[in-house]
Amino acid sequence: MAIRLKSRKELDLMRAAGRIVHEVHNLCRDMARPGTTTREIDDAAQALIDERGARGLFKNYPTYQPGEGFPSTLCISVNECVVHGIGNDRPIEDGDVVGVDCGVQLNGWCGDAATTILVGHVAPEVVTMCEATEHCLQIAIDQIRPGKRWSQIARLMQKYAEDRGYGVVRDFVGHGIGSTMHEEPKVPNFVSRELLKNDIHLRAGVVLAIEPMLTLGSREVKTLDDGWTVVTLDGKASAHYEHTVAVVEGGAEVLTDGR
Ligand code: MG
Ligand code: MG
Repeated sequence: MAIRLKSRKELDLMRAAGRIVHEVHNLCRDMARPGTTTREIDDAAQALIDERGARGLFKNYPTYQPGEGFPSTLCISVNECVVHGIGNDRPIEDGDVVGVDCGVQLNGWCGDAATTILVGHVAPEVVTMCEATEHCLQIAIDQIRPGKRWSQIARLMQKYAEDRGYGVVRDFVGHGIGSTMHEEPKVPNFVSRELLKNDIHLRAGVVLAIEPMLTLGSREVKTLDDGWTVVTLDGKASAHYEHTVAVVEGGAEVLTDGR
C-alpha cells in the first residue's frame, strides 16, 4: 500500500484549500434555517468556491453505474441520510440535523471536511449522538502521532461510540488525501480484519481524511434509487464529522480548521 507523504510546503497548500472548506461550512451554518432549501445552500457554496478560484471536488464525481456523476457541489445529508445527500427543494425544518460535506481543490491540492449542523429544537438523543460523533473525530486528532498504528486509534473511536449504543457505519470510511481527493489508504472508523492485516503506520507526512459516521439505531445503510443518497436502513438519524488531518512530528495538524 503506497501512501504518498506530503512535504511541509504541500501541507500548507492543502491548508489553503482547507480554509475554503471551512469558509463553506460557516456559510452553511449561517444559512441552515427552517424554510431554506438544501439546494439554496448548495448554490451559495458553489458561488463561494468559484469566488475563491477553487474547484469543488464532488460535482460530477463519477459513478460506477451508467448515468450522471454526482449532481451537487456539497453532500448535504439531512436526518436519516448518512452521506452523499443531494441538494434539493425540500425546506429545512426545525429539529433537522443537516450534514454538510465539502471538498475543494485549490492550486492542485485538496481539502475535505464535514460537519453536522443542528437546526433549532433537535431531539436530545440526536444532539448527544452528534456530540459523540464529533468526539470520535477529536479522539483521532488527539491520538495521532508518528509511530502509532491506525487500528489503535480506530479501536478507541469504535469503543467510544459502541459503549454509548451508537452504530458505527461500516460501508463508508475515510481516506488518504493530497493532490487528489481519494488516495491510499482506506481509513475505517472501526477495527476490521482487513485493517489488522494491512494496518496504517502513522508517520510524519501522512495525510488522512478522517470521517466518523454514527447512527442512532442500527449501523446498516442503503443507497436510494438516485444512486447516491445513503440512508439508515431503520430511518433513524445519523451524524458525520470529518477533518483533513496531517501526521506531523509530535502529533496531528488539522488542515481544515480554518487557520
Ligand atoms: Mg468529505
Ligand atoms: Mg472524505
